[in-house]
Amino acid sequence: MIPVRDDLRSLEGYHSPQVDVRVRLNTNESPLAPPAAWRDAFVAELSRVEWHRYPDRAATDLRAAIAGWHGVDPSQVFVANGSNEVLQTLLLTYAGPGRTVATFEPTYQLHAHIARITGATVVEGERATDFTLDPTEMRRVVAEHQPHVTFLCSPNNPTGVVEPPELLEQLLEVAPGLVVVDEAYAQFAEWTALGHVDDQTPVVVVRTFSKTWSMAASRLGYLIGPRWLVAELEKVVLPYHLDAAKQIAGRLALQFVDDMDARVAEIVSERTRLVAAMELLDLEVFPSGANFVLIRPRSMPGRELWQGLLDRDVLVRDCSSWPRLDHCLRVTIGTPAENDAFLDALTEVLP
Ligand code: PMP
Repeated sequence: MIPVRDDLRSLEGYHSPQVDVRVRLNTNESPLAPPAAWRDAFVAELSRVEWHRYPDRAATDLRAAIAGWHGVDPSQVFVANGSNEVLQTLLLTYAGPGRTVATFEPTYQLHAHIARITGATVVEGERATDFTLDPTEMRRVVAEHQPHVTFLCSPNNPTGVVEPPELLEQLLEVAPGLVVVDEAYAQFAEWTALGHVDDQTPVVVVRTFSKTWSMAASRLGYLIGPRWLVAELEKVVLPYHLDAAKQIAGRLALQFVDDMDARVAEIVSERTRLVAAMELLDLEVFPSGANFVLIRPRSMPGRELWQGLLDRDVLVRDCSSWPRLDHCLRVTIGTPAENDAFLDALTEVLP
């Protein structure tokens, strides 16, 4: 064995354990497959790809389709292999050794994880016990550490909290560097930061095809940001990083916006039903604007509840040992049948 970089020696990998169960509500994917018409169109186009040639390096058609949907210019769109690669490219470009990245914990673990891999110093602000972010704490972190990159995640994973629009406005007033709003789940909520993006403001909004678009298998994500920033990211990302199949998959998906909206509406209505049912049980249920809900049992250890659900063939995410999330479990909204199975199991296991 040869040693890794000194600063990576204590790094732990990011894990999302998969278990073979009947009801899988642990990774925030869509429980619904994409429309059959999308799959047919995708397969038809695949047969016409010139496989001996590199793909369009600038992903011109895909970026034009995303830009058209959001009403921005294609030069404001950066696409990559999942929003995780978008985040990685952002951090390679704007973080790195000698630079500081701010997160507000608990939040999506990959923000801090990737930042550390780039060699940056991570400073962690604290959320309140209800997981909202106090503007005073936000200002303290920014004033004390002058971060080069500050993350907001809205709706926040794993808590489900939607940040109030004023919080972003206040952050933009004080942040000395780039503000990244991770909106992996934004279409399940009422608010988006997209209205703040322009060439004068150092803010980007990161989105994914993995959740609302039912396309987690495809690994496609993007950001909307200032033109000058997108141009810098293009210098850092690997050439031809986005394969031809993915460019087709994403472009065609945007012809099915109505289907996507219908799927989102279905999941939001299931979320409402699930939350109402859970509120009758011996649980803390945190308000969510995403396709998952964070819960905490009042009268048994979270780990025991997780195991009890697993024993009944239902897998949820066990956050109970994560910092600041004592006894918490995160449940992805599934199909009505999956949600019923979860509720039945939950009712059985809770004392
Ligand atoms: N951001 C957040 C907040 C997420 O929860 C996830 C998925 N767990 C991602 C980004 C990454 O999504 P993907 O790489 O599949 O686009």
